Amino acid sequence: MNLILLGPPGAGKGTQAEALVKKHGLVQLSTGSMLREAVKAGTEVGRQADAVMKAGGLVSDNIVIGVIADRIAQPDCARGAIFDGFPRTLAQAAALDDLLAKRNMPLDAVVELKVDDAAMVSRISGRYSCAKCGAGYHDTNKIPKVAGVCDACGATTFSRRADDNAETVQKRLLEYYRETSPLIGYYFAKGKLKRVDGMAPINEITNAVEAALGLVERV
Ligand code: AMP
Repeated sequence: MNLILLGPPGAGKGTQAEALVKKHGLVQLSTGSMLREAVKAGTEVGRQADAVMKAGGLVSDNIVIGVIADRIAQPDCARGAIFDGFPRTLAQAAALDDLLAKRNMPLDAVVELKVDDAAMVSRISGRYSCAKCGAGYHDTNKIPKVAGVCDACGATTFSRRADDNAETVQKRLLEYYRETSPLIGYYFAKGKLKRVDGMAPINEITNAVEAALGLVERV
C-alpha cells in the first residue's frame, strides 16, 4: 500500500504516519526527517538544505526528488510506504508518479488532513520528540504516559525542532498554500483524494484514515 499524507505543517501527518507504521507495518518516508538527518550528518544534501529549512522555505525539487528516489529503491519499501511531507510541489508529484510507475507500485490514496489554520501555530509550538527514537509528543495534546519518559523507547531526553517557531511557521504555511495546496486538486482529479477531519482526537483521525484506506470497516 502506498499512501500520501497531505496537509499544512502541524496537521498531524507525522503522528498519523507513526500510528499507521505501528499498526500496519508500513514504512514512513518523511522527507523532512531525512533532510534533518542529512543536515546533522553534514552531507552535501544537508549543506544545501540547511539554510532553506531554517528559514521555512522549500528545499529544491531536484534535491528532494533525489532523496526520495534513493530511499524508495531500498528493499523495505517494496511492500509500500507512507509519504509524509512529500510531494510538496506539482513537480515533485509528477516525479513521484514516474518513480512509482517505474517500480510498479500503485498509489492507493492521498489523504488530506483538513485542519483549522489558526490552530496550527499553537500545535507546532507545543510539539517535541524523543531525542533517541523520534516518537512525537505535544505539551498538551500528546504527553508521555510517564512524565519525561518516552512511551516508545524509555529514553528521557527530548528535543524541539529549530524551525518550530511562530515566525518560521508563518513562512511554512505560506509555502504550503502557494506550492503544496494545488496538489489537492491534482489528486482529486486523479480520483485519489480522501479528506479526513484533522482536528478530531488523534485516535479518531487514525480510525478515519484507516477507514478511508479500506484498512478497517467504518463503524
Ligand atoms: P517537515 O518535517 O515535513 O515539516 O519538513 C521540514 C522542512 O524540510 C520543510 O519546511 C522544508 O524546508 C523541508 N522539506 C521537507 N520536505 C520537503 C519537500 N518535499 N520539498 C521541499 N522541502 C521539503
